Amino acid sequence: MSNPLLEVKDLKKHYPIKGSSLFGSKHVLKAVDGVSFSIEKGETFGLVGESGCGKSTVGRSIIRLHDITSGNIYLDGADISTLNEKSLKKYRRRMQAVFQDPYASLNPTMNVFELISEPMKIHGNPSVAEQKETILHLLDQVGLKKDHLYRYPHEFSGGQRQRVSIARALSVKPDFILCDEPISALDVSVQAQVINMLEDIQAETGVTYLFIAHDLSMVRHISDRIGVMYLGNIVEIGSSEELYSNPLHPYTQALLSAIPEPDPTIEKRERIILQGEVPSPLHSPSGCKFRTRCPHAMTICQEVVPEMMEVETGHQVACHLFSK
Ligand code: SF4
Repeated sequence: MSNPLLEVKDLKKHYPIKGSSLFGSKHVLKAVDGVSFSIEKGETFGLVGESGCGKSTVGRSIIRLHDITSGNIYLDGADISTLNEKSLKKYRRRMQAVFQDPYASLNPTMNVFELISEPMKIHGNPSVAEQKETILHLLDQVGLKKDHLYRYPHEFSGGQRQRVSIARALSVKPDFILCDEPISALDVSVQAQVINMLEDIQAETGVTYLFIAHDLSMVRHISDRIGVMYLGNIVEIGSSEELYSNPLHPYTQALLSAIPEPDPTIEKRERIILQGEVPSPLHSPSGCKFRTRCPHAMTICQEVVPEMMEVETGHQVACHLFSK
């Protein structure tokens, strides 16, 4: 039975660009242009796509780091899409985030104890002894040691800093964590460790993740379901297994064909080289936004925006090749 923690309905985030045309009228950059999906409690939903496709804007919109243009975001059934800062406060604890660059997101003048206790103090009033007890447990949970407690961010490796960021996010017992490219800046060997740790934490706490990445192989490992984004829209959603074994959208097929297959017993996918560049979100093509690069584009693709449709249970795609 469906039990979503998070529901996103027709989310749009547009940025008007002042004076961008000859007569000073506004152009609109459509960073996110009508995105809908839901995430079950305790599920990991992966969001993938090339740089600039809008995936990080979706994540930041969900945790309300900025206002949205239109649409709805429901957390446990409550519409948080238009709440002001005061009304949002009770939801802020429940939604935490881990970003790509832990060095930028951790205050370099604070030690680990101060960094992790800061959100705890904002969202409650635990005693110093309670804070310390919780933080020592969190350090153990993220694979850091007791004697790391009073060290500063510059004294850690990139992987250890990301562990501190994760402990900080966990310190207020969130229901949902936005993981926005959390492993992209880490060495490959460390990436797998952080992914395994996130999985262990989820098994222990039941936390729900939105995992944003451009590396499809890591997303496959951690995600239960995956959404593929292109130019501000989701073009395909499916279970991790289904999406990788049976990609339907030509863009998903092209992305997957670029991943090396480590298992020699599995037949390699034919490499699909996409022609041209991703168009600017200021001047998106009519109809299907992928049509300028799609090897299967037809006349209808130029004229009609393809609707998202369910092709098999839980597997949705927006492409005229699958229109009935
Ligand atoms: Fe290609 Fe047309 Fe499908 Fe778009 S709708 S992905 S252009 S076939």
